[in-house]
Amino acid sequence: MTPYISIVIPVYNEEKTLPIMFGRLIPVMDAYGKPYEVIFVNDGSKDGSQKVLAELFNKRPDVIRVVQFMRNYGQHPAIMAGFEHVRGEVVVTLDCDLQNPPEDIPKLLKLIEEGHDVVGGIRADRQDLAWRKAASRFSNIVRKYITNINMTDHGCMLRAYRRHIVDQIVECGDASPFITALSQSLAANPTEIEVGHEERAAGESNYNLYKLIRYNFDLMTGFSLVPLQLFTIIGMALSAASLLLVVYMILRRIFVGPEAEGVFTLFAIMFFLISVTMTGLGIVGEYVGRIYMEVRKRPRYMVKQVLEKDSSPFAKASGDKGFGR
Ligand code: UDP
Ligand code: MG
Repeated sequence: MTPYISIVIPVYNEEKTLPIMFGRLIPVMDAYGKPYEVIFVNDGSKDGSQKVLAELFNKRPDVIRVVQFMRNYGQHPAIMAGFEHVRGEVVVTLDCDLQNPPEDIPKLLKLIEEGHDVVGGIRADRQDLAWRKAASRFSNIVRKYITNINMTDHGCMLRAYRRHIVDQIVECGDASPFITALSQSLAANPTEIEVGHEERAAGESNYNLYKLIRYNFDLMTGFSLVPLQLFTIIGMALSAASLLLVVYMILRRIFVGPEAEGVFTLFAIMFFLISVTMTGLGIVGEYVGRIYMEVRKRPRYMVKQVLEKDSSPFAKASGDKGFGR
């Protein structure tokens, strides 16, 4: 039976949470009463996740599909792999760690049925470390000002989409996709709804500060040229200020005569200007690096194995090489 709903779940080192996820998600979806599939994408887990996934697949081969990556490519490439092969009319994304309750899925589906093409979750009473929450608030504010994407919580992965939105995301073929923001920018009639948020059911977050910064660069450079333009403006303002300083120094040279003091002030100004230049180079580098990634057109991920009842569309779509773009 062709599924009506496809649920896509990225999995990285989630051997402990997977059985709990299965135990909560499947009853919710069975009770919902429409044909569905759950696509678990194992993003190169190093623990026993694949073994657990195989067991879950054996329990419910009618609804479970498992895609195993060759290695770890990241959460968004994993979701993209799911997106490329969904069969349902409505697609739901969900993290595997049960931070967002699967019991909230029917709430999102209701809004889709009411005619919205994208339904975003807003993590009410978010249960994460304080620094994560603060970083997320900051990132949402910056996004609001430098992109024209309006959404409340771009980090919440419990979201539902109409199929044509998912197809368009796949069509975009970004090398570093930022799925929540991309779907919001493609939506004609998006809406948002508060969803529950709990602590991780087990294990630890896969995002450290470094990963989080890189992830945010993807967002900022993927949807906005403001960092570059802002830099040009800062550069121009600094040039004007420097010019005034030069004129002032020339006048002092003429009217006061040669002076040698103020060398540390000069150092301070130099250090400041050099660091501004380095930041600028970094920002340009971020864009150039991304252009390079796009131009190279390397596969976004490679599939090692697929577990599913019907013949594998994954293998077919990728010419049996297990490539995905
Ligand atoms: N994840 C993934 N690949 C990664 C990191 C994470 O597929 O490289 C998955 C992970 O298994 C989980 C989801 O992405 O289902 C969110 O990850 P996590 O809970 O660690 O992030 P946080 O909730 O702390 O943002
Ligand atoms: Mg989490």
